[in-house]
Amino acid sequence: MKLIFLGPPGAGKGTQATGVSSHLRVPHISTGDMFRAAIKNETPTGLEAKRYMDAGQLVPDSVVVDMVRERLAMPDCANGYLLDGFPRTVEQARALDEIATPDAVVDIEVPDERLLARLTGRRVCSKCNGTFHVSKVADEKVCPVCGGELYQRDDDKPATISNRLGVYHEQTAPLIGYYAGLGKLKRIDVGALPLYDGDSRAEDVFQAILASLE
Ligand code: ADP
Ligand code: ZN
Repeated sequence: MKLIFLGPPGAGKGTQATGVSSHLRVPHISTGDMFRAAIKNETPTGLEAKRYMDAGQLVPDSVVVDMVRERLAMPDCANGYLLDGFPRTVEQARALDEIATPDAVVDIEVPDERLLARLTGRRVCSKCNGTFHVSKVADEKVCPVCGGELYQRDDDKPATISNRLGVYHEQTAPLIGYYAGLGKLKRIDVGALPLYDGDSRAEDVFQAILASLE
C-alpha cells in the first residue's frame, strides 16, 4: 500500500505515521526526519535544507523530489510505503505522480489554535526520534520511552511556528483539493474526536485512520 499523510505542522502526522507504518509493515518515510539526519551528518543536502528549515520555509521542490525519488527506489519500498511530510506542494504532488500514484491520502485535520499549543510544547528525543508534549512527560529533558535526551526543535520556536502555519495554508492545503479530485482523500477530523485534558488521544486518531483505510 502506498500512503501519504497530509496535515498541518503539529497535526500528529509523525506519531500516527510511525504507528500506522509499523501496523501495515511498510517503511515510514519522513522528509523532515531525512533532512534532520542530513543536517546532523553535514551532507550537501543538509547544508542547503537547514537555512530554509530554520526560517520555517519549504526546502526547494527540486531538492526534496530528488531525495524522495532516490529513497523510493530502494528495495524496502517495493511493497509500499508511508510518506510523511511529502508532498507538500502541488508541484511535488505532480512529481510524485510521475514516480508512483498513491493508493490513499490521509488528511489529518486539527484546528489551528490547538496546533500552536502542541508545537510550542513539543519535544523530540535525540535517541529514538519520538515526539512528546512537555505537559505529558515526568522530566522535560528525559524521553519516557528510551531515556534519551529530549530537545526542542529549532523550528518549534514561536516565530518560526507562525511562518510554518502560513506556509501550510498557502502551499500545502491546496493538496487537499488536488487529492480529493483524484478520489484518494481520507479526511480525519481530529476536532470532532472526544477531548481529554484539552486534547484528543493519539489512540483515537490511530483507530480513525485505520477505519478510513478499510
Ligand atoms: P512539521 O510537519 O512539523 O512542519 P517536518 O519534520 O515534516 O515538520 O518538516 C520540517 C521542515 O523540513 C519543514 O518546515 C520544511 O522546511 C522541511 N521539509 C520537510 N518536508 C518537506 C517537503 N516535502 N518540501 C519542502 N520542505 C520540506
Ligand atoms: Zn527516546
